[in-house]
Amino acid sequence: MEKENRVADMALTAQAADVASLICPKCHGNLKLQYTSIGKGALSVMCPTCPWRVVTDGVREAPPWVKELGQKIMTGEPEMVGKSKAKRGR
Ligand SMILES: [Zn+2]
Repeated sequence: MEKENRVADMALTAQAADVASLICPKCHGNLKLQYTSIGKGALSVMCPTCPWRVVTDGVREAPPWVKELGQKIMTGEPEMVGKSKAKRGR
């Protein structure tokens, strides 16, 4: 349980470079993250492989990674990791 909360916490506060390393606490697969600013704002972290998911409501401020990567991302994607690396190397 503690581990699961940690993943949800990290998804809320992670920078673009760190969010790519988040994995599912249950099956260690890549996670789908989606932030929505509609209404109170919400961040959902879900695993496409197993039924694990966490939805945090009342997220009024977008997590840091949203600015760089967009509101909907998949962690561990080579494309995404490459993107943040290229930016860092500048
Ligand atoms: Zn999973």
